[in-house]
Amino acid sequence: MEKIRVIYILGPGKNGSTLLERILGSLSMFFPIGEIPNLWKEGYEDDILCTCGEKFSSCKFWTKVSKDAFPNIPYSKLGGLDRTANKVHKVFYSPFLIYPKLASNKYNERLRRYKEVLLKLYRAMSENAKGNVLVDSSKNPMHCLILSQIPEIELYIIDLLRDSRAVAFSWQRKSIRPDIYWEKRYMLTPDIITTSRRWLQSRLGAKLIKNRCKAYRLLKYEDFIKNPKAEIIETLTAFGFNIEQKYISFLNGKSVSFGKFHSISGNPMRFIKKEIEIKEDKEWRTQMSLGAKIITTLLTYPLLKRHKYI
Ligand SMILES: [Zn+2]
Repeated sequence: MEKIRVIYILGPGKNGSTLLERILGSLSMFFPIGEIPNLWKEGYEDDILCTCGEKFSSCKFWTKVSKDAFPNIPYSKLGGLDRTANKVHKVFYSPFLIYPKLASNKYNERLRRYKEVLLKLYRAMSENAKGNVLVDSSKNPMHCLILSQIPEIELYIIDLLRDSRAVAFSWQRKSIRPDIYWEKRYMLTPDIITTSRRWLQSRLGAKLIKNRCKAYRLLKYEDFIKNPKAEIIETLTAFGFNIEQKYISFLNGKSVSFGKFHSISGNPMRFIKKEIEIKEDKEWRTQMSLGAKIITTLLTYPLLKRHKYI
């Protein structure tokens, strides 16, 4: 059976992953699926809007995927898989993923069952995406580690790195979630300690994962925004995907518009239909408070320095 090819965008969130996902999704051989760890709760339980505009339960893509992947589980029970995911997903469990001998039999058994669930899901997504490469913008390093342990999945990782201070500032912005259509709900605005911790976790995750996948590439958000076309071609070529220039001609200008996708959960930007201007978001440099800037810099200093942000 053919391998399931997945491009995984890794990072702490607010790192430009939605833009990258949408640009990749505009190329005919890629199929964005969104943030899979949120699928169980937000898709099956809350019934949020798919990026195509339909409710998750009415979207043709996800309805078919659900039937193909889980023919013997009633639809109403699929949200329950969120609890299974939470029991293996927490960062606390990361040593158990790397060294299974340290884990209890109970944990290893839960993990084995969850991997079976994920394999069925990714197989069904891949088949319904007509064999195109899935673009998974989950970002979560634990989910990525679990996928890397499923032999049938061929994982190509884009480690999308952005200045920790820009990430922390961006998480502070108040924005409405358009996929939650039944009430006005804002995206979470975690404090700078939490965002710095997540940023560090994603760096650690990248270190653990980079040798456990088919291919890995570090891509700096700032370089990607400056020259998206060149960076995407370079990344995909390094992964061994042949992208003809003509298919990426839509990226010639400084703005880009996108097609209709079926990705689930993520940044509200995925619902924007009009053309999007591609430019670096530098607001943090002038608008972030000095205290927040200093704390974030101190918390993430060694890695900011290593990656030449300071
Ligand atoms: Zn859809």
